[in-house]
Amino acid sequence: AKADGRSRIRLFSFELEEKLVARKALENDLREALQRSEMEIHYQPLLNTASKRIEGYEALLRWKRGSFGYVSPAEFIPVAEEIGVIDTLGEWVLREACRDAAAWPSDITVAVNLSPVQFRAGNLVRNTLRALSDTGLSARRLELEITESVLLEATEKTLATLHQLKQLGLRIALDDFGTGYSSLSYLSSFPFDKIKIDKTFIQDLSSRSDALAVVELVVDLGKKLGIRTTAEGVETEAQMIRLQEIGCSQVQGFLFAKPQPAACLDFNVIGRLAA
Ligand code: C2E
Ligand code: CA
Ligand code: CA
Ligand code: CA
Repeated sequence: AKADGRSRIRLFSFELEEKLVARKALENDLREALQRSEMEIHYQPLLNTASKRIEGYEALLRWKRGSFGYVSPAEFIPVAEEIGVIDTLGEWVLREACRDAAAWPSDITVAVNLSPVQFRAGNLVRNTLRALSDTGLSARRLELEITESVLLEATEKTLATLHQLKQLGLRIALDDFGTGYSSLSYLSSFPFDKIKIDKTFIQDLSSRSDALAVVELVVDLGKKLGIRTTAEGVETEAQMIRLQEIGCSQVQGFLFAKPQPAACLDFNVIGRLAA
């Protein structure tokens, strides 16, 4: 029994060590990823629910990690935040997305995700301004998506940063609404332009009445506050019909298109297919 215990311990520490080595390798590769040109941005359309026309695209980061293939942002963004490369990465995404969008039809917007870490860094407003002026993209075509976690530390500095960003002329969306520590006070403490309802609610829309109630509530609240609402993760026609009935402003999901490289975007095709 003693020998068993020892070998279990040895086995355990061996596995742990393997994990640590793998994690270190991931960190090192992530630090080099930009220089190696392994990062790409894919774009997923945001459609007007009523007209089914494309209003804009969300920029979603993709990492092609050498022989490992694609690594999910859900996996590497937290690591990038931890090891302090999210600032460089986030700045790159912002600039690339603005550059790509500048070549699109002038009524099409681009939405860029921001990490809470980018907020604390203090150079966000300057970097955003520079990305806009360097690429020539009009600020009104840029939307920044922030999550509730930014507002958890809703200090005066956070609010000041948000207001400064809005003063540039861009729009701010509250992402993943309903997942974190959602508080209605967030909606009154800052003038958001859009609420993105998390896909977990959308996916349960036709099967769970509580999910339907939440989506209806958020959409109604948005209407009353003059805030647009976007449903993310729309995968079925049934969900789409419900969202049209409820009067959600915008839809996004695999039903219409998966995220794809800028070179593959067709600004007309999807609208026509969906119509
Ligand atoms: P998110 O901002 O909530 O982005 C939406 C996610 O839902 C994307 O996952 C998108 O591919 C996925 N999605 C879209 N439609 C559907 C659908 O119909 N069904 C399902 N099941 N999923 C759908 P993705 O691209 O893997 O990104 C995951 C998360 O990584 C994002 O969630 C965002 O939080 C983060 N992320 C991605 N790009 C960036 C970035 O440039 N900067 C930062 N800070 N975070 C990013
Ligand atoms: Ca987002
Ligand atoms: Ca989201
Ligand atoms: Ca999400």
